[in-house]
Amino acid sequence: MNGLSLDNASFLRSPRSGAGVCVDCFNFTRGFSRCFACAHTERQLAAMVPISYSIGHEYLHHTLASYKRLPSDRAATAISQVGAIIDRFLECHEACVAAAAGTDRFELVTTVPSSDAGRDETHPLRRVVGELVRSTRDRHQRLLRRTDVPVEPRRFDVRRYGAVLPLDGASVLLIDDTWTTGASAQSAAAALRAAGARTVAAVVVGRHLNRDWYENDRHLDKLSCRFDWTTCAVCADWRRLAEVA
Ligand SMILES: [Zn+2]
Ligand SMILES: [Zn+2]
Repeated sequence: MNGLSLDNASFLRSPRSGAGVCVDCFNFTRGFSRCFACAHTERQLAAMVPISYSIGHEYLHHTLASYKRLPSDRAATAISQVGAIIDRFLECHEACVAAAAGTDRFELVTTVPSSDAGRDETHPLRRVVGELVRSTRDRHQRLLRRTDVPVEPRRFDVRRYGAVLPLDGASVLLIDDTWTTGASAQSAAAALRAAGARTVAAVVVGRHLNRDWYENDRHLDKLSCRFDWTTCAVCADWRRLAEVA
């Protein structure tokens, strides 16, 4: 993997909940329980679990940008890396995500459509989730389409997406590459719930952050440098609470 092994995964930085961390999206805040974006967005997701922070201009950020730049050798490498990260994470922690969302399991897995309809047809994340990731390929379905309604970018809007079939009480796992404001993922969850989904939760590869905003640099330095596949943002919290009890 280009010298960056998934075993030590030093390019990943796992979020942890706590003071000054948004309870919905793990963004760092100025001491508030929710970040500005989450406080101004309708919460439709029962849980949102980022695998890692994606720090502006650092390795994961470049990987998540380049895997969409098809066709190129760099994109092919990045696609297999993104696939390997999601595969391993779900193998270890899908049960944690389900428990955090209050469901037993996710019957269906889908992705958030691209804002660009042309690009959406060839979006590599669908290939990753529908073909490469072992635990999702049999459950993956294209459940959402982008509507023609003009909506503001980076704003939650229930009209942004429509479900393509009724979901009759299913629990749906939404997978996305990057979370910035959460507007598209929350809008996608709203469309799935409007179509009858009982529970919708999201796993994102990278929760985007810039190091130079407020105290992000200090917060990031406090996180363990070693990414640990045995612990996710959800079960780290359970262990912490068990130790306190
Ligand atoms: Zn937030
Ligand atoms: Zn876990």
